[in-house]
Amino acid sequence: MDLSKNLKEVLEEIEDAKSKSRFNRDVKLIAVSKTHPVEMIKEISDLGIKDFGENKVQELTSKIDEVQDVDFHMIGNLQTNKVKYIYDKVKLIHSLDRIKLAKEINKRAANDNIKVDCLVQINIGNEDTKSGIKYEETEDFISKLVDFKNINIKGLMAIAPNTSDEDLIRNCFKKMNDMFEKIGSKSYDNVEMKYLSMGMSNDFKIAIEEGSNMVRIGSKIFGKRNYN
Ligand SMILES: *Cc1c(COP(=O)(O)O)cnc(C)c1O
Repeated sequence: MDLSKNLKEVLEEIEDAKSKSRFNRDVKLIAVSKTHPVEMIKEISDLGIKDFGENKVQELTSKIDEVQDVDFHMIGNLQTNKVKYIYDKVKLIHSLDRIKLAKEINKRAANDNIKVDCLVQINIGNEDTKSGIKYEETEDFISKLVDFKNINIKGLMAIAPNTSDEDLIRNCFKKMNDMFEKIGSKSYDNVEMKYLSMGMSNDFKIAIEEGSNMVRIGSKIFGKRNYN
């Protein structure tokens, strides 16, 4: 596995997609290191990428202890009872999708007098198998989050349906960008539409063309995973 070659290709494809996009947004790469060993994270870090995505709390905390000078992002479904292990250790939680979860994050953060940056996850394909709030409920949900003074909402996150139908995927990303801009045009306390986190190995080029400024790429950098 030549990680440096994989990374170079991904970075080139990101640049190519940016040049085709009508949005002039900088794109942040989150290297999704879930299931892969810390040695691979260190190798990618040495190549200049400092943001890593993980989806399991236990794996995340053990990696945080083992790798210095990088930022970890929680991109997976987060159980309320596991918030305590990560709320003050991650750069960004991409998967805020319930008031109950917001309450717990806020409580912990308030105790420590810190702010925790989160993205609101939207179930853009309206799939039973995926987490996230309903697209139609986004504004309502965000208006309720302003009560949580120790959470900063930094944007939106979505996972597109796993399909070969590119039009459908593109349409999902378009809708996400519409919402990103709509909410961004309003002023809520503690809410800033800074990051639109969408695009994975199979669809990040379409995502960037449609306005994504944060892509979460795993297998294209680290290779295939044996599980999830
Ligand atoms: C695993 C995962 C990714 C990366 O998926 P790849 O297809 O390997 O790029 C991105 N986002 C989330 C939320 C994930 O769980």
